[in-house]
Amino acid sequence: MSYEAVIGLEIHVQLNCPTKLFCNCANAATEQANSHICPICIWLPGAVPQLSESALKQAALTCLALNCEIQEESAFDQKVYYYPDLPKGFQLSQHHKPLSRNGWLDITGEDGKSKRLRIHHVHMEEDVAKLVHETEGQKRISLVDFNRAGAPLVEIVTEPDMRCPHEAMAFLRAPRTQIRYAGTAECSMESGTMRCDANISLRPAGSEEFFTKIEVKNMNSIKAVGGAIAFEIERQSKLLDNGQPVTMHTRLWDPEKNITTYMRDKFAGPCIPDPSVPRICLDKAQIDALAEKLPEMPSQKKTRFADQFKLTEEEAAQMSAERDLADYFEALVNAGITPRPAAQWMAGRFLPALKEQHQEIASTPLTPDRAAELLSMLEKEVINAKQARKILSLMFTSEKSAPAIANEKGFKQLTDPAALTAILEQVMADQPDAVTNLRSGKKQAASFLIGQAMQQSRGKANPKLLADLLEDLMRGN
Ligand SMILES: [Zn+2]
Repeated sequence: MSYEAVIGLEIHVQLNCPTKLFCNCANAATEQANSHICPICIWLPGAVPQLSESALKQAALTCLALNCEIQEESAFDQKVYYYPDLPKGFQLSQHHKPLSRNGWLDITGEDGKSKRLRIHHVHMEEDVAKLVHETEGQKRISLVDFNRAGAPLVEIVTEPDMRCPHEAMAFLRAPRTQIRYAGTAECSMESGTMRCDANISLRPAGSEEFFTKIEVKNMNSIKAVGGAIAFEIERQSKLLDNGQPVTMHTRLWDPEKNITTYMRDKFAGPCIPDPSVPRICLDKAQIDALAEKLPEMPSQKKTRFADQFKLTEEEAAQMSAERDLADYFEALVNAGITPRPAAQWMAGRFLPALKEQHQEIASTPLTPDRAAELLSMLEKEVINAKQARKILSLMFTSEKSAPAIANEKGFKQLTDPAALTAILEQVMADQPDAVTNLRSGKKQAASFLIGQAMQQSRGKANPKLLADLLEDLMRGN
């Protein structure tokens, strides 16, 4: 039988806030276990949680960045379960009254068309402690580190709108871009500030009803999410084809073997309204004021880049794809570089070079100021494109400025018409066939002759001037 996959995601995002959700302990990773703790976040009896205003603001901005509607009233519940990483026996989360509902994000589907995926709701919750499993001599021991306990999280719960691994992977990239733009979280699956569980079930193609869903956990990269979903679609299809039932349980992704394995039966404890944290009440004016704090988002930036800087739609999309990249581009423009050449240089030269150097835009030593010096030399034709490429590759590892490197290497564009004419005349004498071809209208012959002249000048000639001089010479002949 042919099946269709029905996929929903639950994405946990750790917010950028100075403190934890309900206490004043630092919300920061640290080497020393159990150093950022207090009676509230190690859940001693009688400790009263106090909701952090900063966490609430960051959570609300995150919801707005995901096109969700902030609810005028939301509240915390006790999600009851027992596990060694949660010794108080419940997690403070929002089950009945989440902070926001009804969001959406657009992704590009496998067919290249835009597809809108719905977000059911986004709620706030506290993180649990971290279990560290070690061996001590012959014994296997488990230790608990509470530094992460009580860290402020939001959980993004999607509608089951995804149909294939590609859509789930694209969906994971979309909130990451939006949230990084909003500046409310780092969203790195590698460092654990974004975590994703996937719910996957199958149904006969064309049917509305679906079979039992399976939850997969422990995926620490976007690629792993795609791999786990693909594996589950295959595994569940085989079970159903063999007449075996799919039973509800939770599975773990094994990134070494590229398979999912049984973890535990699905258990959903009760969610009881929490009596200690007051309800969150926001009126329309407060919600509007929050919305005004949301910075310019990718789609707005894309439209502005196209209008203000006369970029093509594709260039504007490229330059607004990530906030760091957009900030870099605008810094070049503010430093006086013409926008379109700046965008083309970033897409064509800078980003590939950055990848080759294994560097990130936010931390590369090639800051926009230094890059602007290089591009300005290129714009003023002090150096040519080939020389600019060589200087660029040196600037990633050297602190020297572009003009200093150009000086050192003797990179100065040859712009003396008499010298260039002499080079061209020599090339034309050496390549009579190319000259004949050019005279009979074959345009490629001109590029060939200019290329030869560039070589003769050891890459120093101004190619535009060479082209003009060649035209003059041909006319003269
Ligand atoms: Zn604390």
